[in-house]
Amino acid sequence: MIHKAALLEQFGVPMIVHDVIMRDPAPGEVVVRNTAAPFCSTDWLGWKAMRNKTPPVILGHTAVGIVETTGAGVSAVKAGDLVVVAGTPECGECFYCGVGRPDQCSVLMEQPEPVVAAKEDGTPIRAAGRVGAYAEYILANQNQIWAVESDMPHSQLSLLGCGVTTGHGAVVNVAQVEAGQSVTVVGLGHLGQWMVQAARVAGASSIIGVDMVPGRRDLARSLGATHLVDPTSGDPVEQVRALTGGRGSDVVLEAAGPELAVQQAVLMSRRAGTVVLTGVQQFQASINLPQLAIAIQGRRILACQNGQSILGRDLPLCLSLMESGQYQAAELVTAEYPLEKINEAMYASGQLQDLSGVISFG
Ligand SMILES: [Zn+2]
Ligand SMILES: [Zn+2]
Repeated sequence: MIHKAALLEQFGVPMIVHDVIMRDPAPGEVVVRNTAAPFCSTDWLGWKAMRNKTPPVILGHTAVGIVETTGAGVSAVKAGDLVVVAGTPECGECFYCGVGRPDQCSVLMEQPEPVVAAKEDGTPIRAAGRVGAYAEYILANQNQIWAVESDMPHSQLSLLGCGVTTGHGAVVNVAQVEAGQSVTVVGLGHLGQWMVQAARVAGASSIIGVDMVPGRRDLARSLGATHLVDPTSGDPVEQVRALTGGRGSDVVLEAAGPELAVQQAVLMSRRAGTVVLTGVQQFQASINLPQLAIAIQGRRILACQNGQSILGRDLPLCLSLMESGQYQAAELVTAEYPLEKINEAMYASGQLQDLSGVISFG
């Protein structure tokens, strides 16, 4: 099938929308007509060669759309179904799926990204996150495809496969925030905004949002943050401590990435508090952390990929929270772009203008 896809052919060079030739679905694979895919900050890093990508590649690791056709042996979805294409497969067969940790599924972590299409000259094209969402059609394994029923705008539903489940999972599955706890969120990009909302729904007594961008602090306040900290107006660690009786927060969620933000997140937690790290600045980055604050002061340093989500459980839960209005998605969709404007969406994400700029298809 010939369709249009945004190709990353060289790192750091604008993507080009090309006709590409999708291969036929293999057994277990599904072709999805894409209706909406959020531009994720992860792809800004991928474009800048800060992720393991092999060009030419179609970026974009989650989307929502309609099943077009299915390969042999596909049972979970059928043509015409509305589906979320998730960025993390759950193969159900590997060691990690077997121990209840599909966020570490070996298909994602150990296998190269698959070839899903070819250029007209025959050059193979890979799909980022085994999805390749910046394209009119997506070819993915059924272990990444989840049928959903909803009348919500697809631009909002498209956030389910990345930011919503990841932010929700960091709060609910990993930090296991309890009612009455104080929570601090470091970094109020799209992920941080979902963490703020999940902390509110979990019953946190105070939610402190930390970000240098004023508009992001304002949005976090409207989504449930009770206090906002500007890290450029004085030591953010001291500011958080001042808001938490001098102790630090019961739970700190880091969704920023830079080493300094990670270090500050650890020190914003109280002794014996919980810290969840989710940011990755680039693949080779490492972080130095104070040993005393961890070992002697008993902080629990946790981390997560994809919110340690189990999508069969967490996707319906997050969708019902969105449909009931407890998770507000409309505010997170700050712009919509046609596929041809993919580079505008990328720059707006990289320059912190968009929270979630969604690529929308007709
Ligand atoms: Zn993402
Ligand atoms: Zn697996």
